[in-house]
Amino acid sequence: MATTNQNTSNTQAAPAAPSYPNQVTGMWVLAKALGMVGITDMYGLVGIPVTDFAYIAQEQGIRFFGFRHEQNAGMAAQTHGYLTGKPGVLLTVSSLGFLNGLTATANATVNCYPMIQISGSSEREPIDLLQGTYEGLDQLAIAKPLVKAAYRVNRAEDIPTAVVRAYRAAISGRPGGVYLDVTTPCLGQILDRDVAEALFYEPVDLCPAMPPADEAVRRAMQLIAGAKKPAILIGKGSAYAQVEDLLKEFVDKTGIPYLPMSMAKGVLPDDGPLSALACRSTIMQQADVVILAGARLNWLLSRGHGKWSKTTKFVQLDIDPEEIDINRPIAAPVVGDLRSSLSAMLKALPDYKMSMDATWVPSLQAETKEKNAKFAQRLADNATASPMNHWTAIGAIKPILEANPDVILVNEGANTLDDTRDAITMRMPRHRIDCATWAIMGMGMGSVIGAASSTGKSVVAIEGDSAFGFSGMDFSTICRFKLPVTVVIFNNGGIYNGIGVNLSGNGDPAPTTLDIHARYDKLGECFGADTYYVTTPDQLSTALKASIASKRPTLIDVQLGADSGKESGHIGYLNPESLQHITV
Ligand code: ADP
Ligand code: MG
Repeated sequence: MATTNQNTSNTQAAPAAPSYPNQVTGMWVLAKALGMVGITDMYGLVGIPVTDFAYIAQEQGIRFFGFRHEQNAGMAAQTHGYLTGKPGVLLTVSSLGFLNGLTATANATVNCYPMIQISGSSEREPIDLLQGTYEGLDQLAIAKPLVKAAYRVNRAEDIPTAVVRAYRAAISGRPGGVYLDVTTPCLGQILDRDVAEALFYEPVDLCPAMPPADEAVRRAMQLIAGAKKPAILIGKGSAYAQVEDLLKEFVDKTGIPYLPMSMAKGVLPDDGPLSALACRSTIMQQADVVILAGARLNWLLSRGHGKWSKTTKFVQLDIDPEEIDINRPIAAPVVGDLRSSLSAMLKALPDYKMSMDATWVPSLQAETKEKNAKFAQRLADNATASPMNHWTAIGAIKPILEANPDVILVNEGANTLDDTRDAITMRMPRHRIDCATWAIMGMGMGSVIGAASSTGKSVVAIEGDSAFGFSGMDFSTICRFKLPVTVVIFNNGGIYNGIGVNLSGNGDPAPTTLDIHARYDKLGECFGADTYYVTTPDQLSTALKASIASKRPTLIDVQLGADSGKESGHIGYLNPESLQHITV
């Protein structure tokens, strides 16, 4: 018996083959159970009591990506889940490691990404009696309100069932984050091998189809057929559900224009003839019927109010019945999984005659042309700014990313996020990953690792300097695993910008001020990456082309002016009015 829970802390090498070949541990059962449901990758950070478990998982063929911070490992797991449609797995130690990782698991839940956080936890008895045990924390109770489902396993015999349940909960219905608490005694429990082998089973239909009711499809199709100015709003639920084929067929057959949410860019091409990407306000104000396809009427869509016309009727395709009517009455809910719902609508389509206004699409196309010209002018006006501003840098990046549509783009920041999203035309589904529903910072390095590891594709991250800071240390993980990732940092020296004023005059930096002269490229250098420090668009262009071609870990430090960028980017309206606004 080589892998009990007692000797985990000092283990340096992989545990030797069991000296009692007829016995296995809970850790072995856990690794095997994950393999049984098809888990191939795990992201995490080891320590007591899960170190040996990670070794055993590797030994069993599960790839383990060791991180420097659990939150970043969790962001990798959620990105893996989003891109593959199978749960990403995060492994954490007890107490703080668990809490650090839980941030990502909560974020996954809010974004409907399937992931499973597996955390070691200390033995129950002294935790329940508050007797001050090692890293004693009632982790299950803390996780519960933040995740889709949470379970604790106390006995090795229950591990296969627990893993299957966690998997089903993460992936079926509306996907989300699941917490699986595995106690130290359970991880170290010894079972006879034949008893353990008999515990495993192959679960049937882990993610069942959930077709909509016929009546719901009829109601929706009637409304769509009668619409004069219809539009389809594509959300990241559609990207996740991988229904680009069905959406394309629906758009081709009906001629209805579409508008993608941020991470749904590229599900259908941003620059297709029926793309109304540039006409968001017009659609909100003029469309009479809007089909929400895996998009929520949450704050990102003004919760159905704001610019939206009061008379717009909604068809909502969503897997979660509780999502319907949350902010506005939904005239035609189609509750089901998107593949089943769109297939049913396509099947019904020949029975209906569309009545779209002949002028609707041409007017959107004319508006698109006009907006695109304005946008091109803005880029041209800023093309030679010195020092560079966001638009100068994005102008240099845009043609390169668009010439490499299969590169996955990860994007976070405030102005860096908004301007990059607006500027870069996406043509392939699931190639844009960003701060998403909670608009959080700190998803960057984890997401690039999850994206590169789960797809094998090259990844470029466009990061604000502040955003990068949240997860920057895990740039080292990109280097250790030699991933084809380029991290581009827009350094404007601060949160929003680098020109904040400290109102006290005591010489301390303002709350938003960071390091305008920081040489982030040196950070890349210390982990062996290719690095560039660029001050002109030509230098940036050369560096990015070289890094994409090399497929090597690369860090490009882009020096912007400190005055580039405004508070909160596009969502400045969410700030409360403040003293600073009045007095500065
Ligand atoms: P966006 O921010 O792009 O609008 P959201 O994350 O807000 O996207 O919304 C995605 C929606 O997609 C969620 O309401 C979720 O329930 C739904 N969804 C996720 N997977 C599926 C699926 N397979 N079928 C149908 N709806 C889905
Ligand atoms: Mg900044």
